[in-house]
Parts: sequence; C-alpha cells; structure tokens
Amino acid sequence: MSKFKGKKILIVGLGRSGVAVAKYMAKQGAKIMVTDIKQKTELMEYIKDIAHLKIEYDLGRHTNKYFHEADLIVLSPGVPNSVKALEEAREMGVAVTTEVDLAARSIDKPLIAVTGTNGKTTTSMLINKMFQCDQQKTFLGGNIGNPLLNYFTDEATADVVVVELSSFQIALSEKLVPAVAVFTNIGEDHLDRYSDMESYIQDKKKLLKACDRNTFVVLNFDDPVVAGFSDENHGKLLWFTKRNPMKIGGQFAEEFSGAYLSEDGKTIHSKIAGREEVYDLSHFCLFGEHNKENLMAAICAARVQGVKAKSIQDAIDTFSGVPHRLEFVRKKNGVYIFNDSKATNVMSVQKSLMAFKKSPIILIGGGRDKDMDFTLLADYVKNRVKILILIGEAKEKMNRAIGDYCETYLLGTFEEAVLLAYQKSRSGDIILLSPGCASYDMFRNFEERGDYFKKLVNQL
Ligand code: ADP
Repeated sequence: MSKFKGKKILIVGLGRSGVAVAKYMAKQGAKIMVTDIKQKTELMEYIKDIAHLKIEYDLGRHTNKYFHEADLIVLSPGVPNSVKALEEAREMGVAVTTEVDLAARSIDKPLIAVTGTNGKTTTSMLINKMFQCDQQKTFLGGNIGNPLLNYFTDEATADVVVVELSSFQIALSEKLVPAVAVFTNIGEDHLDRYSDMESYIQDKKKLLKACDRNTFVVLNFDDPVVAGFSDENHGKLLWFTKRNPMKIGGQFAEEFSGAYLSEDGKTIHSKIAGREEVYDLSHFCLFGEHNKENLMAAICAARVQGVKAKSIQDAIDTFSGVPHRLEFVRKKNGVYIFNDSKATNVMSVQKSLMAFKKSPIILIGGGRDKDMDFTLLADYVKNRVKILILIGEAKEKMNRAIGDYCETYLLGTFEEAVLLAYQKSRSGDIILLSPGCASYDMFRNFEERGDYFKKLVNQL
C-alpha cells in the first residue's frame, strides 16, 4: 500500500510540476489540496488538466490552515522558499519536499543530473541523444519542462534518466543521489530571488553534497566557481576544459580524467576510465564555444555510463540544436537572424555575442530584469555590437549600463524592435535576439517570446 494513502498533501504552486504531483498523488490515494497566489482564471490550463481529480483548491492566496494541516507540502520550483505560511508550517514540523525529490525517491534507474547557470538544457539534450544513439531508452525530465514524476506515467521503462535541475529544485531535494552529476558553469542569475550570489552558489552546491562516493562528478575546470567545488567533492571526479591538460601539467595532467578541446577547436579528446578517444566536430552544428563546453560535459556523462564512443560521435553528427538557444531562424538579404530567447541572464548574452567572432551584430535585448549587473556586458557590446535595440521593463537600466558603447535605440514594442533591427541591417550582419532578461513583462515565457520573434522574422 502506498505510504501516501489517505495523507493530506498540499501542493504549493500550480504549474507543470504541480500538475504532475497532483496526478501522482491521486494514484497513490492521497487527499490533495492545491494553493496558488494566482487566481483561477490565470491557472485554467493547469486546472483543466486535472479537472477529473478530487482536489480542494485555495487560490488567489495562501491560507495558513492548509499549510498547518498538511502531512506533506510539495513546493513548486517557482514558489519562493520564504512564503510566510510555509515558514510557520516548517516550524510546526510539517515536512516540505519537491516534485523532483518525490520522483527521485522512487526511481531505481541511474540518474544523470545536470545543473549550472547556463547550458543545462543543451547539455541534458546532448546526453539524452548520446544514449539514444546507443540504442538505450531514456527519460529526459526536470527543469526542461517535463516533470520528473512523469517518468511513472510513461510506464517507467527507461534504462537511464536524465534530469535537468535548477537551483530551486536542488535546494529542497534531499533524496536525490545521482549516478552522474554535471555542473556546467556558475554566473549571476536569479538575484531577484536570492539575497546574494553566495546563497545561489550554496543551493547549487547541495547537488554536490547529495553525491556519494560512487557518483561521477563532472566539473568545468575553466569556471572558477565550479572548479572550486572539487575541494568538497567526495565522488569520482571528471573534468572538462578548453585547455590541454598536458599544458597545465603537474598532478592535474597526470591524473586527468575527462574531456578537453583541441587547440584548433576541431576535436574533443576524452580520457575516461583509462580509455582515450577523439571526437570530430566537423559536423557539430551548434554555434559558439559555449556549446563545445556543453558537448564536453555531455561526453563525460555519457561515456562514463558506458555509452560507446561510436554512438557519441553519431550524436555529435546528428544533434540538430535546441529551439530558442542561438537558434538560426533565417537568412534574408544576406542578414543572418538568430533567436536566443532563452538567454535570460548576462552570462548567456556574453557567450552568444562571443559565438559570432567576425560579423557585426544588431542586438535586441531587454525584458524583465532579474537584478542583473548589465555593465558586465560593456566590453562585449563595445567590441561586437553595431546597434543595440532595447525594449521592455529593463530598457532604461540597460541603456544606462551599456547604451553609450554603440548606436542605441529604446523602443516601445517587440514588433518595432524587430522591424528596426531589419531596417538597420546590411548584408553580412547578424540580428540576434538575446535579451539578458526574463520574458514575463511581455510574454508568458521565453518560448512564447522566441516563437513570436520567429513569426515576426518570417514575415519580414
Ligand atoms: P539553461 O537550461 O541552463 O538555461 P540552455 O541550454 O537552455 O541553458 O541555454 C540557455 C542560454 O544560455 C543559451 O541561449 C545560451 O545563450 C546560453 N548558454 C548555453 N550554454 C552555455 C554555456 N555553456 N555557457 C554559457 N552560456 C551558455
């Protein structure tokens, strides 16, 4: 019998993961309550999905009573941990968990967990593709938009589970012990929800702490924060780096296990479990050095779990990219247009600007600020951006930070921005939507923003 049978489960925050929890708990025979500060009208798409289930709703507010009475509270990743009613419930001894943690407790397949500030989705999808090319059945879930609990609705037949984790998901996940943990990089993000950078890093580090001595821990040697995690690692360490370990020398070179990029950037070399392999990147179609970093991380994770080198090469040759991440939209009159709507923080914009070494860039930025320091973009804008077009809530702040380094326009609408970018462009230019901000001031999410951008671009 399920241990949740008859138990009162309070789901705080009704989004995709809240829906998955409701479905899972209904199967277990639990009594389900859902609370969200959003009104019913704003949540209809989710409510419809679980309309057939017996659920008590408390919407438009959080009522303390429900928190106090619950046997277990399941917190959605979008809800801040600091909600008052939640704090009180905790003090009263009510257990609090997450959708990811609930799933992780029951999944008996190897879990490959991927976290970091940027590159999580791309890396997770690359790993997934490598296993698929190896004829292994995978389940890909987590922050990627497919709740991990869906693993159980999908008949739970996967050989391996790849899970993308945000810092919010890690923060409250205590039962998750990954077979492989990948840390892509750490830079400024979500400072609207964290009091400072240190608390953001501490949450990411909880995944490192969750690893046991059999976990393969994949770290980015070139990222100072991630590289520093090696001091606290008690799993089996693998590195990925753009530098040749032999040139770094010393103990690092002698003991090197992991993947590195050749100096000409055309191949990736791996040394894992004593075996050396070389992967050819001539058919790898993703733009930018950062995607080679993601690829190295993915190679480490897949190879260490036994994926054949040949299958990894097949994945490199056939992976077609991820929508909204430096996605090529079209070429019109010699102008190349890219959708990077998922670039919602400063580091991702930096990387995207670096991906285009020679061409002049017309950059469309702005949206809802996440307390970012946009002056960190100054050098990149100075060196690479020809015209800067700013929109959304953050446009004034961004203009003050970086508006002096090139011709800059502040506009009222998204449509005007796309049109002006095109009118100002000349053959050989690149138009890049890479906002450096969240999308919520104008759109429901970054997908909607990217899709709308592509629609406008295709109408030009
Ligand atoms: P995440 O899932 O962590 O948000 P994605 O793979 O969806 O990462 O990529 C989001 C954005 O971050 C991309 O549009 C790109 O601009 C940037 N990015 C991707 N990989 C990296 C990386 N390794 N380092 C820095 N920025 C990256």
